[in-house]
Amino acid sequence: MRVLVISDIHANLAAFEAVLKDAQTRAAYDMVWCLGDVVGYGPDPNECIDLLLTLPHVCLSGNHDWAVLEKLDIQTFHAQAAHIARWTREVLRPRNLIFLQARPEKLAHGEYLLVHASPREPIWEYITDTTIAEENFEFFDETFCLCGHTHVPAIFVRDDKTGHVRLSLPAPGVAVKLKADARYIINPGGVGQPRDGDPRAAYAILDTETRIFTVYRAEYDYQATQNKMREAGFPQRMIDRLAFGR
Ligand code: ZN
Repeated sequence: MRVLVISDIHANLAAFEAVLKDAQTRAAYDMVWCLGDVVGYGPDPNECIDLLLTLPHVCLSGNHDWAVLEKLDIQTFHAQAAHIARWTREVLRPRNLIFLQARPEKLAHGEYLLVHASPREPIWEYITDTTIAEENFEFFDETFCLCGHTHVPAIFVRDDKTGHVRLSLPAPGVAVKLKADARYIINPGGVGQPRDGDPRAAYAILDTETRIFTVYRAEYDYQATQNKMREAGFPQRMIDRLAFGR
């Protein structure tokens, strides 16, 4: 099976559409695995959920989805993200609120565990280094964990023999063959608000038979998204960061 792996769409329709278009030029995919945070930060929450619902998909819950649902205390968010979470709650159509409410925190799919953030804390925890990754390998039994949340493409690999955990940052377009004698925590990066200094939308294609995982980047019209954010009165810092990928 070929899977389009995406995370952190963050209500950025231009980025999401660019990813789908770019992915079509790479490989046909059978399924979309969306690792949560479909909304928050961006101006198109309804449009992004509507588009996701047209695709064969599974989708997890993220911390921004929970903030919009008031399943977590919005005070834990910084003021700018909280502002947009409140706005999102106001504009979301009832069907789309119900969609977000029904998302699971974890999903196991054969050898794969899907979460938004981490196996230990599926909504919250940022896996940013090998120490945190190493601890998290104890919290799932599957061979692979796919997660988003940091908005940075990353592959943590744990060698079965030594237990040693290593981090590699996958380069766009370079196919990575996942080894049989190792376990992995893999992040496809963020669609709607990349944070690795590259403003292009990030996504990945995973072939579950050949175990080949490839990250790609798609250019999109971020100014179109910025214009909508301006019209909606979003905080300037949230608008600016799309241009820098930070
Ligand atoms: Zn996010």
